[in-house]
Amino acid sequence: MNVLKQVLTIAGSDSGGGAGIQGDIKAMSANGVFALSVITAVTAQNTEEVTDVFELPVSIIAAQLDAVFDDFEIAAVKTGMLSSAAVISTVVRLLKPQQVGQLVVDPVMISKSGQALLKPEAVEALTKDLFPLALLVTPNVHEAQQLSGIEIKTLADARRAAKVIAQFGCHHVLIKGGHLIAERGTDLLYDGRFFQIYKGEFIDTTHTHGTGCTFASAITAQLARGKSVPDAVQAAKTYVTEAIRHSLAIGHGKGPTNHFY
Ligand code: PLP
Repeated sequence: MNVLKQVLTIAGSDSGGGAGIQGDIKAMSANGVFALSVITAVTAQNTEEVTDVFELPVSIIAAQLDAVFDDFEIAAVKTGMLSSAAVISTVVRLLKPQQVGQLVVDPVMISKSGQALLKPEAVEALTKDLFPLALLVTPNVHEAQQLSGIEIKTLADARRAAKVIAQFGCHHVLIKGGHLIAERGTDLLYDGRFFQIYKGEFIDTTHTHGTGCTFASAITAQLARGKSVPDAVQAAKTYVTEAIRHSLAIGHGKGPTNHFY
């Protein structure tokens, strides 16, 4: 019998299908695991903009978490859009007793189109309550700047920011460098002692909707399949590079990455 590893994403729905829950499920499936999903919020969006956001009541978020943890053997968990401090505290309360060893926290704050996906007052709950449970936190450059208070232009800036973010108590920090001004496409992993640099090809395309969700989901899937953090990051980076190379010019704005190239 072929038993796939079961992986959970806790995130927001993207009606445009490229990011959020929908992007996560596609990226996890393409990386060979079975994706479970707990939806925190529903966004009305397409490749151009987010037009509305509805946060689900915490009772149904808790019920979804109970349902999946009651039944499945969950090998790894990824969080994406958590929307508010109330959602974060519900997720933390129900995740803690599960003692999930492989938790990847993608600290989603703002969409490429400029819509806030996390209320500013919720950042403290994210760093204080959720980061300490995480094996890996995966901010992009903008999120790393906001979390660390350091302006990031170079890899040296990114190293300083990673050290500040690690102090919140997560085991590893990956600064996704797609937007790194000095070295575009270079990612930086910090394990609390050492840095590892992942040099990558920068693919010049506007069709990058959902790239961050895709990268973090692929890492989570690779961890569930038994890879170490540095190896999971490398495998996911190779995957996301191809997903961007073959991204889809659909819709009228920033098209999505292609999960099944
Ligand atoms: N919508 C949702 C629900 C998300 O979780 C995210 C990112 O994490 C986005 C939109 C943003 O996607 P992008 O910035 O790639 O457009």
